[in-house]
Amino acid sequence: MDITREKRQIIVKVEHVNFSYRDQLVLRDITFDITDRDFLAIIGPNGSGKSTLIKLILKLLSPDGGRIYILGKLIQEFSDWGAIGYVPQKATHIDPIFPITVHEVVALGRLPGKTFPRWLNKKDRDAARQAAKLVGMDAYLSRRIGELSGGQQQRVFIARAIVNRPRILFLDEPTTGIDAKAQDEFYEMLDTLNRQGITIVLVTHDIGLVNKHVNKVACLNQNLVFHGTHEEFCSSSKAKELIPGGHHLILHRH
Ligand code: ADP
Repeated sequence: MDITREKRQIIVKVEHVNFSYRDQLVLRDITFDITDRDFLAIIGPNGSGKSTLIKLILKLLSPDGGRIYILGKLIQEFSDWGAIGYVPQKATHIDPIFPITVHEVVALGRLPGKTFPRWLNKKDRDAARQAAKLVGMDAYLSRRIGELSGGQQQRVFIARAIVNRPRILFLDEPTTGIDAKAQDEFYEMLDTLNRQGITIVLVTHDIGLVNKHVNKVACLNQNLVFHGTHEEFCSSSKAKELIPGGHHLILHRH
């Protein structure tokens, strides 16, 4: 038995959650946990409710039924949102002449935790520098965000999402529009953040990625059709039926 794994704290608990947009049922009776230091992939076909589930956990939407707990607190009572980082879908559609530097974009992630007056001080700029370093973008701090490649911009948005040192980082389809080489480097960077203690939750349809980097898989299709370890996922016939090419999955996580 892996004792270290047994001891890990549950940081998100989803219990019997249902959600509909008006009269369209999108999520039905979803129950699962996210454990500290997991690298979880949420997979499933387009429209299967993946983004909606993330938005419910981030309290951007409210469930019609069921409960969500974050760091042991019912979501309605949870207030430490600095512990949660989020990189939404299509964060990288940027006007190339938008006159804001990498350093400023990252430092803006400090604003939500501030009370009036909400300007950025040296501590904020230092935190931004450190976050940029963690994602390998510290050499670009004074560059305009619009001058960077899609992959580099995505790193900057991750730096902004981790500038408050969150416990958990949610990413929704983060590699859309990024070339294959940059994607590989990107996932290695997520591995590094995960090894440093940040729990990662990734919405993706990239099965190759699931195979290489994650330790847990949740497969949605309105219901939660699978939730378990990467190893269980690879040997699960149900998940394989649902995922095109799933029968080719082999175990080679590093
Ligand atoms: P996924 O992330 O798996 O592609 P989504 O959670 O984005 O799925 O969407 C699930 C379903 O909910 C889809 O049928 C989608 O069209 C619908 N949907 C998503 N957002 C909205 C919205 N704001 N209003 C109404 N329907 C929505």
